[in-house]
Amino acid sequence: RSKELGRDTFCFFEEKMNRAATERHALEVQLRQALERGEFQLHYQPKANIRTGQVIGVEALLRWKPAGQALVAPDRFIAILEETGLIVPVGAWVFREACGQMMKWQRAGMRPLQVAVNVSARQFRHPELVQQIAGVLRETGLAPQLLEVELTESMLIDDSEVVSRTMAELGRMGVGIAIDDFGTGQSSLRYLKRFNVDTLKIDRSFVKDTPNDSEDSAIAKAVIALGHGLGMKVVAEGVETQAQLDFLHAHGCDELQGYLLSRPVVAQAFAAWFRLQDVPASPAAN
Ligand code: C2E
Ligand code: MG
Ligand code: MG
Ligand code: MG
Repeated sequence: RSKELGRDTFCFFEEKMNRAATERHALEVQLRQALERGEFQLHYQPKANIRTGQVIGVEALLRWKPAGQALVAPDRFIAILEETGLIVPVGAWVFREACGQMMKWQRAGMRPLQVAVNVSARQFRHPELVQQIAGVLRETGLAPQLLEVELTESMLIDDSEVVSRTMAELGRMGVGIAIDDFGTGQSSLRYLKRFNVDTLKIDRSFVKDTPNDSEDSAIAKAVIALGHGLGMKVVAEGVETQAQLDFLHAHGCDELQGYLLSRPVVAQAFAAWFRLQDVPASPAAN
């Protein structure tokens, strides 16, 4: 009896595993064609100065829209792009699209905004990343100072030759470097000293329960102090409430990003939002 039960259980798991593998394979097949089919799009989420409220720039966030299906969020497909190596061409597309969009906006008369682009581990270790970025900046004409790459801590703990070279070359080019989700990786603080990091982004998980949770509040304050002590800018991600904003403002955090300001939206929606909220200096002042 127990033998039978064992077999059933086994079959059940095997079936589940097969289904997961089939699903994953189907996703992979679809993703391989997604780029040439033009199914990727970028959403833009603003970042603003906490003290003045002025929008400083945007983060570009990747979305996938397979034909006839709903929009797919990155947690569903970034890992597959990484594992298959597809992240390299898709990442190149993200840089081109994001920088190109910034220049379209500038040509349309929008004041120049910064753009932050997420880079994943495999992409970051790719020896041609710097060349790829340099090429995109040349082709689009975007000032390197307006581009920031967002990396995670785990990419920097290994100080391989290619990582140090990439960091140094990006710095020389004038491209900014931000550490995303700061405090959640396997971090050693040594890399903050070793590399030219410009920005720390406090992970959303630490922002979420401020100011009520005393541990999270202590961590957020410590990250702000650490960043400032090292001459870096500190950005809070995932800011959803006025209470969180007030807390971060009181503790000297530089920039905020989160639903309180805006969700990530398509380019056109961002431009419309920006036009409405970016009030020019009052005419009386001229
Ligand atoms: P991330 O870079 O930390 O991006 C922030 C994520 O938090 C985004 O999720 C954003 O939509 C979400 N978010 C922003 N404000 C709030 C808020 O106030 N509340 C809550 N609950 N969430 C907020 P998204 O767009 O789903 O992206 C998830 C992750 O996927 C990103 O995390 C990033 O690591 C990765 N990703 C996105 N685009 C790209 C890309 O082009 N390349 C690579 N390599 N990774 C990307
Ligand atoms: Mg990011
Ligand atoms: Mg983040
Ligand atoms: Mg995060």
